[in-house]
Amino acid sequence: MTTMTSNSTDLPMDLKTHLLGRSILDRIGNTPMVRLERLAAHLPGITLLAKGEFANPGGSVKDRPASYIVKDAFARGELGPTRPGRGLLDATSGNTGIAYAMLGAALQFPVTLCMPGNVSPERKKILQAYGASIQWSAPDEGSDGAIRLARKLSAESGDEFYYADQYGNDNNWRAHYETTAEEIWFQTEGRVTHFVAGLGTSGTFTGTTRRLRELNHEIKCISMQPDSPFNGLEGLKHMPTAIVPPIYDETLADRNLWADTEVAYTMAKLLGREEGILVGISAASNVATALQIAEEEHAAGREAVIVTILCDGADKYLSERFWTE
Ligand code: PMP
Repeated sequence: MTTMTSNSTDLPMDLKTHLLGRSILDRIGNTPMVRLERLAAHLPGITLLAKGEFANPGGSVKDRPASYIVKDAFARGELGPTRPGRGLLDATSGNTGIAYAMLGAALQFPVTLCMPGNVSPERKKILQAYGASIQWSAPDEGSDGAIRLARKLSAESGDEFYYADQYGNDNNWRAHYETTAEEIWFQTEGRVTHFVAGLGTSGTFTGTTRRLRELNHEIKCISMQPDSPFNGLEGLKHMPTAIVPPIYDETLADRNLWADTEVAYTMAKLLGREEGILVGISAASNVATALQIAEEEHAAGREAVIVTILCDGADKYLSERFWTE
């Protein structure tokens, strides 16, 4: 596991320039908080809010951990001007890969990604456009196959790569501890009562929950996972059957809810048509789970401010058939 250097004066000069101005890195975070008006209109006393992570420059929530991981690697001399030609290697279901590829292009280091062979054509094209290299793992082995391939390449390649290991890298959850949680606290003026997020690497849930609990130990934090290993909820893991991410802390969640892919598809269409918000399937599943909590709180006669995450936009999923079914 690696550590984050918080003092930006320790950073190499070229990265400092990028951090101080004009860079794509400056556009990561500070995403809008969107109020889901119509979805919760039948629930007086309930405020349903969602953080628009599609507004990040790479189009997803994963810009935050990827930028923390890369900044840390530069600060420790694992990547960057002192290691010319050395590349970043990691396993990714797509969004972290897109974030790494964007950062690799912006900061000029090579990026090699291990991904299951059946990722959508949109993802392949985005990664190719940023100039990243892809190593394909077995399609039927999902993210576990990609993780195994990345570990193997890292072990066999000597010093060629910095293995970023988003599943075990503390900078993943720290990005959310230091940014996502603080933004939620600020944007709700400390009124947030519930936080809901799906589990992939678990970085979003782990980091945000840890910080929100420090700010108010009564906040209820609810994690969500797909109810089946054979699901269409891109980016999310079915923990009982997956390689459990080393950064995952099963003691954190007040509750873990199981999500159905069909419910997520229905919610994705509803968000587009009723709220004017086109998002990906894990984002829709987060909203469906948050709405379930909203209905429970309302039925119990309690007021609540429920915050969830719109992990990415719909653009990478438009080839899926459910939109028009
Ligand atoms: N949704 C999408 C679309 C993702 O790409 C990811 C990350 N793989 C997640 C949700 C889960 O986020 P985390 O890795 O922080 O648990």
